[in-house]
Amino acid sequence: MPELRKDPVLGSWVIIARERAKRPSDFARRPPEKRKGQETCPFCYGREDQTPPEVLAYRPGEGEPNTPGWSVRVVPNKFPALDHRAELASREVGPFTFLSGRGVHEVIIETPEHEASLVTYPREQLEAVWRALIERYQALARDPDLRYIQIFKNHGAVAGASLEHPHFQLVATPLIPPLIQQELDASYRYYTARHRCIYCDIVEWEERENQRIVEKNDSFLILCPYASRAPFEFWLLPRRHKSHFFLLTPSELRELAAILQEVMRRLAASLEDPPYNLMLHTAPVDLEAAEYYHWHLEVIPRLTVWAGFELGTGVYINPTPPEVAAKFLQVSLRDIH
Ligand SMILES: [Zn+2]
Ligand SMILES: [Zn+2]
Ligand SMILES: [Zn+2]
Repeated sequence: MPELRKDPVLGSWVIIARERAKRPSDFARRPPEKRKGQETCPFCYGREDQTPPEVLAYRPGEGEPNTPGWSVRVVPNKFPALDHRAELASREVGPFTFLSGRGVHEVIIETPEHEASLVTYPREQLEAVWRALIERYQALARDPDLRYIQIFKNHGAVAGASLEHPHFQLVATPLIPPLIQQELDASYRYYTARHRCIYCDIVEWEERENQRIVEKNDSFLILCPYASRAPFEFWLLPRRHKSHFFLLTPSELRELAAILQEVMRRLAASLEDPPYNLMLHTAPVDLEAAEYYHWHLEVIPRLTVWAGFELGTGVYINPTPPEVAAKFLQVSLRDIH
């Protein structure tokens, strides 16, 4: 079973997940990065038996579960970082705190088409992916042992995607991860001092200044954040203040898919399909609607490597000012070709 260990000094957490491991000596051999191609891909049609049984699938036509015919399919991760069967337990031993690795790790397969991607499949497909994410989120949120559900997407081997077939992932944890807690605490302090939401203030300021906006529509703004950690980092911020992302209306869902695809297409076209990580930040499952917290998406293209200084200090060196990155990403696709 995996376990969660708390750093006794910083209070940060790590997951020790032996099930995902190779033998220690395997790390020494370091074979060249090999990813499963289409020939053996477990996410393609006809290989449904190579994943754990599906927990959700959209089947526009007929079809039995775990057979072809689906358009979006959600399955438990075969090598989960946390285990849904673990009994929730914590223990303190000397200076150390341990929490059993209770949690859920699922894969949301975005399309049956191996070669497709978020920037090539139709907008309706991305809407369906988000509907599946919301459905699974709400189902898992009912489990009282789970306190936070992290939705994310890794694209490209450098960004950690071990399978090239397009997919999102979801990891539900029995604790609120430190980064989320830090955002919640800081937003709460800002709200207490000014009676305003910091994210609403950022939206208003950035729109007025117009230095870092990449794209906008009626419901969303995409901008390169003031303190971008990496070149071309961007955030998607909803205009409507909501702490929980699953309250998206159908028209917001449509606008979310449209604006995200548009900016992702520009990123892919202008920087040769760079690897990236996409992360959703939303309120913890047990938090009531909060005036001080505002859900958002963060996308970090992996064009630079975080090295000794970043790992040693938590301070990132970013060679591309967000103002320059935003201008670059504003260029429409027509101008690129
Ligand atoms: Zn595939
Ligand atoms: Zn807000
Ligand atoms: Zn965030």
